[in-house]
Amino acid sequence: MAVPFLPSERKKANHDAVKILSRGGSRICPGSPVFVLEGVVSMAYSHSDCDKEREAILRSLSLAKKQKPAYGDIYPFLEALFLLQVSVKRGVTVSPPSIAADLVRAKWDNGFPLCRRWEFPLDVESAQEIHRSILPHIPETNQSLRRAHGVLAELLFRDAPHSDGGSVWRIFSGEEGWVDWEEEIPLAQEDLVSFFFLGRSCIRPSIERGALDLTERFPVPEGWMKGYCPICGSLPALLFSVGEGERRAYCSWCSTRWKLHRLQCPSCDNRHHESLGYLYAESEPNYRIQYCRLCRNYFKLVDTREMLDLPYFPLEEWTTLHLDLLAQRDGWQQPGALSKVVYGDVGP
Ligand SMILES: [Zn+2]
Ligand SMILES: [Zn+2]
Repeated sequence: MAVPFLPSERKKANHDAVKILSRGGSRICPGSPVFVLEGVVSMAYSHSDCDKEREAILRSLSLAKKQKPAYGDIYPFLEALFLLQVSVKRGVTVSPPSIAADLVRAKWDNGFPLCRRWEFPLDVESAQEIHRSILPHIPETNQSLRRAHGVLAELLFRDAPHSDGGSVWRIFSGEEGWVDWEEEIPLAQEDLVSFFFLGRSCIRPSIERGALDLTERFPVPEGWMKGYCPICGSLPALLFSVGEGERRAYCSWCSTRWKLHRLQCPSCDNRHHESLGYLYAESEPNYRIQYCRLCRNYFKLVDTREMLDLPYFPLEEWTTLHLDLLAQRDGWQQPGALSKVVYGDVGP
């Protein structure tokens, strides 16, 4: 089986990022006065959290190698990337976002996430550490990712005399500044996808630490059952079911998890059972493709109820690519990564 190198959800996310930035933004979500607490370092990710995540990565990879050997080519790279992100995440020294408790309540009461993708503080050092350390792990055969790595290195080198690299890393968080950089990135569309994937992989620990800090200080309300992330307003990368069959969502951008109704399209909020359905492959009864006839979008769901441990979701994004092919062959569309309710109409 030929395995595309990037999860298609990520490809779509990149298109969305380019669109939202080049349109200058018709954003619906009100601006958040989120700023960093100077001199305060987030404590939201302890040694023990780090160890648990490392164990989850190794356990999930070991299982995936046995159960999904078709993806064998990408496991060494993913193992290196995930472990690197975890070790870097522990050392992220960015100050946590500050937001007043009454503003948090007001936002959630009105159905808005706490911030937008570009409002997370980024730790430049940790991003650069991943960029430096991942190079030996990029397979020789993946020339696209190697080219993307080289272009990012060049941008960081050129920017170094003027800033600490922060403006380069902001390209990947979806800020307006992207349009200023676009002409300086000599990459074809295919390589641009790799470029965004790589950049986002580098800033991911900062994003996750920011989200963790917010959810520790402000637990997501039980009643939040929107189709989009309560922290950043992204659509879920994956859905999963737990317990008696309750559905949960996993954020494609900040890794936050939240509850969903059992029957609910995360994209258009349709809750009518006659227009919601699912597909599955007999060989994989724990996986579903849940689709909506109204918006034509689909989401992948992992039924974790018979699993000993929750899977490592960033790995699941990669090892379910064949489900995307199945869904798309059946005529269903991959949703964008951004909720239209929050970010406006950035879809195709
Ligand atoms: Zn999120
Ligand atoms: Zn829908």
